[in-house]
Amino acid sequence: MKKLFLTPGPSELYFTVPDHIQTAMREGVASISHRSKDFEKIFKLAVDGVRTLLEVPENYHIVFTNSATEIWERLIQNCIADSSYHFVNGSFSQKFYDFSKMMGKNAHVMEVALGQGFDINNIEIPNEVEVIGITQNETSSGVAFPVEDIYQLRNQYPDKIIAIDAVSSVPYLNIDFQKIDSLYFSVQKGMGLPAGLGVWVFNEKLVEKVNELKAQKIPIGTYHTIPGLLKMAAKNQTPATPNVLGIYLLGKVCEDMNRRGIQVIRQETNYKAALLYNLFESNNLFEPFVKEKKHRSKTVAVGNLIGQSASEFLQKLGKYKMEVGKGYGGKKESQIRIANFPTHSKESIEMLVDLIEGGKLI
Ligand SMILES: *Cc1c(COP(=O)(O)O)cnc(C)c1O
Repeated sequence: MKKLFLTPGPSELYFTVPDHIQTAMREGVASISHRSKDFEKIFKLAVDGVRTLLEVPENYHIVFTNSATEIWERLIQNCIADSSYHFVNGSFSQKFYDFSKMMGKNAHVMEVALGQGFDINNIEIPNEVEVIGITQNETSSGVAFPVEDIYQLRNQYPDKIIAIDAVSSVPYLNIDFQKIDSLYFSVQKGMGLPAGLGVWVFNEKLVEKVNELKAQKIPIGTYHTIPGLLKMAAKNQTPATPNVLGIYLLGKVCEDMNRRGIQVIRQETNYKAALLYNLFESNNLFEPFVKEKKHRSKTVAVGNLIGQSASEFLQKLGKYKMEVGKGYGGKKESQIRIANFPTHSKESIEMLVDLIEGGKLI
């Protein structure tokens, strides 16, 4: 029997995915031409599905890349002539900041320790900054950036591009797109799909920005530029041969999640998150890593282990055919990270909690 993956990425597949893969194989989805009418239908189903699920307004574009990591580079190439600003509190936010520096930009940073969020009342973003990078859910540390704080930044800096990394909070995240300019994710976390697909949502502000860069003769990249992606998306196509199977599965899983209803998904996520944090607070094997409640991620719960290493804990848990994530980087053995995504049923989280509370994992 295979394990249940409560790891934060890659994670357990959404429970309908195996059936959709079988159908895809029967229908030859992975072999059809990406210039065919059949592909255009698959592309449109996925775009429409994402739009409905995340309530993306009609005037926001949706395009596909190979990963979220790729989108960091595309954002820098297409939207930053000179300067970016980064909220860094973990490995993923750090990478976007590093990429900007590597690409020769003047990257500013507001950095806090792992496990902490930001006090946005003491933020001063320089005038020259063009893009503000916010990691809404820092998967490495389980810290969330509250949407109210994002909205406050929008009010303070209406002209800058606000770009949201929502890789491990989609589809749970409930955000008003009118108050941000771009949001992106890859699909192997909250969406429960095989890795290898990035989804990039953005508004006209980014299109205007890339046109400015072009007018200034700044190189904007080659095959996956905003103008190139949009030109092909207008035909329900992609510049290069894409991950057709991934796009197909995204469309199907969005349909399934839309049928279940995003409200139900959010309510269940809240319920399961409460179970997990209650466990961390009440059981003497753990303590919650993120102390400030408003910064605790609902989709990736991180606990400090007391009295055993992550390897020891995972080994015991493995006997019950479950796996959670170890800590990230330097916290590898001292923490566990538990994913709380739509595919993780209430029953599976209850089972994990019962095992621990029953003293089975000491
Ligand atoms: C996983 C992750 C990424 C990178 O996703 P890839 O699919 O590996 O490119 C970026 N940001 C966050 C917050 C993540 O959790």
